[in-house]
Amino acid sequence: MPIFEYVCQGCGAFFEQLVMSREAAVSCPACHGLDVAKQFSAFSTKTAAGFSGSMGAGCGCAPSG
Ligand SMILES: [Zn+2]
Repeated sequence: MPIFEYVCQGCGAFFEQLVMSREAAVSCPACHGLDVAKQFSAFSTKTAAGFSGSMGAGCGCAPSG
């Protein structure tokens, strides 16, 4: 199941939510607000700039720590 990243528009909290359905309601764990913005990780491409390079070298999957 996909895990999406969200940013609460109310308090600015950043959290991850395991989404089982596209229409699943997501609420902020901090303030329980429903005004959250989904963040697209890994596959977000606002512009084509830098995307035409060779994939694989530096995938951005840096280990968090
Ligand atoms: Zn919040």
